[in-house]
Amino acid sequence: MATRSVRAEEIERELESLLTRETFPPPEEFRRRALIRDDTPWREAQADPVAWWERQARALLDWSEPWQRALDDSNPPFYRWFVGGRLNACENALDRHVRAGRGDRVAFYWRGEEGEERQVTYAQLLHDAERLATVLRERGIGPGDVVGIYLPMIPEVVVAMLACSRIGAPHNVVFGGFSVEALRDRLHFSEAKALICVDGARRKGKTVAVKAAVDRILDELPSLGTVICVRHTGEGAPMRRGRDIWWHEALAGAGPTPPEPLDAEHPLFVLYTSGSTAKPKGVLHTTGGYLTGVAWTQRHVFDLHDDDVYWCTADVGWVTGHSYIVYGPLVCGATSVMYEGAPDYPDKDIWWEICERYGVTIFYTAPTAIRTCIKWGVEYPLRHDLSSLRLLGSVGEPINPKAWLWYWRVIGGGRCPIVDTWWQTETGHILISPLPGVTTLKPGSATRPLPGVDAAVVDDAGREVAPGEQGYLVLRRPWPGMLRTLYKDPDRFVETYFSRFGRETYFVGDAARLDEDGYFWVVGRVDDVVNVSGHRLSTAEVESAIVAHPKVAEAAVIGQADERTGQAICAFVTVEAGVEPDERLAEEIRQGVAERIGKLARPARIIWANELPKTRSGKIMRRLLRDIAEGRALGDVTTLRDPEVIAQLETKVRELQ
Ligand code: ATP
Ligand code: MG
Repeated sequence: MATRSVRAEEIERELESLLTRETFPPPEEFRRRALIRDDTPWREAQADPVAWWERQARALLDWSEPWQRALDDSNPPFYRWFVGGRLNACENALDRHVRAGRGDRVAFYWRGEEGEERQVTYAQLLHDAERLATVLRERGIGPGDVVGIYLPMIPEVVVAMLACSRIGAPHNVVFGGFSVEALRDRLHFSEAKALICVDGARRKGKTVAVKAAVDRILDELPSLGTVICVRHTGEGAPMRRGRDIWWHEALAGAGPTPPEPLDAEHPLFVLYTSGSTAKPKGVLHTTGGYLTGVAWTQRHVFDLHDDDVYWCTADVGWVTGHSYIVYGPLVCGATSVMYEGAPDYPDKDIWWEICERYGVTIFYTAPTAIRTCIKWGVEYPLRHDLSSLRLLGSVGEPINPKAWLWYWRVIGGGRCPIVDTWWQTETGHILISPLPGVTTLKPGSATRPLPGVDAAVVDDAGREVAPGEQGYLVLRRPWPGMLRTLYKDPDRFVETYFSRFGRETYFVGDAARLDEDGYFWVVGRVDDVVNVSGHRLSTAEVESAIVAHPKVAEAAVIGQADERTGQAICAFVTVEAGVEPDERLAEEIRQGVAERIGKLARPARIIWANELPKTRSGKIMRRLLRDIAEGRALGDVTTLRDPEVIAQLETKVRELQ
């Protein structure tokens, strides 16, 4: 115990000194083995981006028919990629590896919440997917019919997605942590014909009945005629004859169905975004372009080698899970870890125990998770041998330098590059990110656009802004994995993404800055900009300055109407375990912000919070904080993780007024 705290103190001191270091070139040992070691792909893609993507599509995927035209851009923003080509996503993820004699390779080391383990091979996934495809077909599900999937992190969720893509039925995965009401809305919007769910789910030692809860909403979904139920907790489930079937019984009696060769533009899935800023949008992705972008980035951003053990801690219910737990790793033939449980059950070191146990080499998580780990303390990762790790990744929001450095030092042992990957549900795959064998890293920057990607930062008139100035992030060239539309709502698609700067420029909705080296600094969402006395400040930057205080764990900043300055900064702050917040701490925080950004950015109000309101994917819902601070009725809260947090904050804010 004593030695541990000495180590913890040493690390603290080291972190302080690291804060002054600005750049991190690829460690020589990493670079030597990296798949990409110089700027060749950027140069090649620059010369002819479409031809470059064509080469990647050919190299990374198996096609049953070649395309006639790589990109049809005759009707922007409705782009089509690999026109006339045919392929099947499931075949690319499973069949071809099994055909090549790699059926016994482990696809997933699955770890259950109570420590159970399953090794799932490519051959086993294929065996089940080709049978589930038959079951779906026999229930009348065909190409274009949407299938809802509402499953926890168990291998069956992968089988379910791939069985759908095998027969061309777009899946609509709904995060298992969502309520059945949120499920109902998403199934209703997408007109789902079938649903795949579980009898019950587990969470931190408790079980909850899922099928019984789902039954409450099924009567409101008349077009949904089939429910396939996986037996997971074994608690039994009410089954309605004619509509409901057990997964294991149906599969036992089914023969295999071959993969259907589908048009490159055939819909692969619909996925509703997390709702940090507005009502969830049904993002539609298609097959050929999406798989090309996902496979290229999986291989090269993560520098994936045959002997890697890869772990993305996201849930399959988010796009990160679709692209970088299911399609990316499987198309690349990777071996991954899949974990069912929570990061603090049975204890706060479970992630690190898993890394040690399976020899994880590539670890991909979100800044919010890293900040939570910081709050828990270094002693948890220190309990385990993390020397197998060689690459770390981050996704979901800007990572503040303090969290980046902690991740780099404490988890990566100072030897693992960090790929800070910027992308969205809509973009399908990573677009701005380091390539770890080439790019010199700057903590907090997603660095530069990947080959074939044309990103820029522009002002209101669409002109590029000077380095250092903040503007709107845009994408000026179509990329293969881009969303094709919002499901059954092409007008909202055009309006949301292609009206601000015209039909050929994708409006991202994020605010960003470029530095003198051409590095992108995504500072947050466009609506997360506060205007204090005419100065536009990004909430993320102020937050980063606040959390730089060693006693602060997390912060969320919003603009509040202010008579004098137009808007004033209001900060919701949570402190590290064991810290008692007081006025002195508030003053230190204000002082720190003044030093790092300027006096103007000092928070006018600091509200101490026990927790911040977050989406179920862990993103802070600033729009709800704005509603609270200004005493308005709350907007759409279906994606909110814990309604109790909001109630507490409302009380606090009312007390202050
Ligand atoms: P909604 O669009 O419904 O409000 P959302 O934007 O949170 O939800 P996602 O598509 O999951 O849903 O998130 C994409 C957004 O996350 C990006 O637009 C950006 O704001 C943020 N983001 C993701 N990765 C990064 C990153 N590496 N750096 C900075 N921001 C990031
Ligand atoms: Mg978004």
